[in-house]
Order: sequence, then C-alpha cells, then structure tokens
Amino acid sequence: MQKVDDIKSIAVVGAGTMGLGIAQLSAMAGIKTLLFDIDESTLNKAHSNIVKNLDKGIEKGKLSEAVKTETLENLSLEKDIKNLKADFIIEAVVEKLEVKHSIFKQLEEINSPNTILATNTSSIPITQIAAPLKRPQNLVGMHFFNPAHIMKLVEVISGAATNKKVAKITSELALKLGKAPVSAADSPGFIVNRVARHFYVESLKIAEEGVADFETIDKLIKSSGFKMGPFELMDLIGVDTNFSVTTSMFNAFHQDSKFRPSRIQQQKVDAGHHGRKSGRGFYSYE
Ligand code: NAD
Repeated sequence: MQKVDDIKSIAVVGAGTMGLGIAQLSAMAGIKTLLFDIDESTLNKAHSNIVKNLDKGIEKGKLSEAVKTETLENLSLEKDIKNLKADFIIEAVVEKLEVKHSIFKQLEEINSPNTILATNTSSIPITQIAAPLKRPQNLVGMHFFNPAHIMKLVEVISGAATNKKVAKITSELALKLGKAPVSAADSPGFIVNRVARHFYVESLKIAEEGVADFETIDKLIKSSGFKMGPFELMDLIGVDTNFSVTTSMFNAFHQDSKFRPSRIQQQKVDAGHHGRKSGRGFYSYE
C-alpha cells in the first residue's frame, strides 16, 4: 500500500465500547466497513448504537439524513472472522495479549501481505503484540479515545518492527477520519494512559482507605474543573477494561507499586459490574 487513498475497505474486530465508534467513523468517511464480534448480540447492539449516534447527530443539526443513509450502506456486520478481508484492519477486542495474538495470527493468514494491521490497545506494547506475527512490520498501534466518534486525539504507535510507511499511512488515515494523530513511543500505556493512570489509581486508593467515598471524590474533582470524575469515567470506559489496562501497566513496569490495581475495582469486575455497558458499575444505569 502506497497511500491512504489505497484504503478502500476497513475491518473492525470487536464491536464493544470502542469498536462501534471506530466502525461508525470509518463508514462515515465513505469507506466500506466490516464490523465483527464473536458475540452476535454485541454486534446487533453495536449497530443500533451507531444508528442512535447518527440520529443524535441529525437532531443536533451536525449530520444530514443522506450521511446517515450512506454511512449505514457502507457498514456490514460480519459474524465469521474468516470473512474479515480488508485493506486496513483495526482490532478493538478485550485488553488481553493472548486474544490479540490469536486474532492477528488468523487475520494475517487470510489477508494480503499489504494489509495494515492496527491495534487499539490502551497499554500493551505494540512490539509484544507484533512479536509472533509473520509480518510484524505491518502492525501498528492506532489508539482512539472514548467515545471514538467524538474524541479527536489518536495516538499512532510504532513498535520495534513497524514499517515507517505503515505508521505514516495510519496517521493519514486518522486525519481522513477527522482525527488529530500524535506519534507516541512504544512504552506501556503510551502517553495519555500513562499520565491518566494516576487519576484512577490514586482515586481508588483514596476510596479504599476511606478518606472519601467515590461520589464525593467525583464531585470534588469536577468542581475543580474536570469534565468527569474518575469513577464516572471508569464507568464510561468499562471498569473491566480500565482494570485490565492498570494490570497490564503494573506488570509492564515490573510491579511498580504506583500502578498497583485496586481491590475495589477487582471486586467490581468479579461481580460483573462493568459500568455503563453492563447497566451497573460504581453507579447504576438501570
Ligand atoms: P469492550 O469490553 O467494550 O469490547 C470488547 C469486545 O471484544 C466485546 O464486544 C467482546 O465480545 C469482543 N471480543 C472478545 N474476544 C473477541 C474475539 N476473539 N474476537 C472478536 N471479538 C472479541 O472493550 P473496549 O472498551 O471496546 O476495549 C477494546 C480495546 O480498546 C481494548 O484493547 C482497550 O484497551 C482499548 N481501548 C478502550 C478504551 C475505552 O475507553 N473503553 C479507550 C481506548 C482504547
């Protein structure tokens, strides 16, 4: 692949919190988009959430009915990973290295040697994700922020093996999707999640020690100018995803205690209280 306009099709793997927004962006940019998830009900929910997002855009006067129609025409739901053939693939599945390895190994077998493989990982080094692949030079980090169809920033991360042209085309694609790409080095958590980790970890420690409850912490943080408190934000992100990211960074930084995952958060994950997506997290959405 020589230039961004050679990308005629994009496949998004994982239709959860992030995957659905990324697929929406891609389809809105006029690119044929395949959206895949192993869970069929998640896939259908993602489609109805994309429709809702588009309707909200129309209500606010930001989008036209024609854009909605064209976007939905560009979008196809895919139930079989064997059909995920595209020029550019963006993986947005659970933050687990072994799951990402298995997906990319399958995808490189069925795709062209020119297909670019991008991962939306928040914390796992790109070099580690690319390590078992036959063509590690084709893998790049493309880290969107939540909600993906709204937040402008995209971190583009080159691993040790990533081809420079692959990283360049990925940044150009981010621009084409209306985003502001920033290059980040392949360090655990890259830039934003490394800084933001302490926002969550320290707030959880304050709650754990009984200094203040989570609602008070959220209120105080917001009154100091933040748009959302840490607990509201964890519910938006997904408590399970946020916990996996902290765990992955704790391990990547050789168990540095400043990244120690919280027991309160572990308990929420064990209980299935994953935040907005499950109807309950620190707050209730039922
Ligand atoms: P999520 O839990 O909302 O969705 C993950 C989806 O992956 C689920 O729908 C699940 O069914 C699917 N899945 C699991 N195994 C699969 C497989 N083998 N094949 C296909 N689909 C599979 O997670 P998310 O919050 O969307 O996070 C996805 C990725 O994006 C993670 O790497 C995360 O670190 C990253 N990320 C998340 C956020 C956020 O705020 N949530 C922000 C930036 C990046």
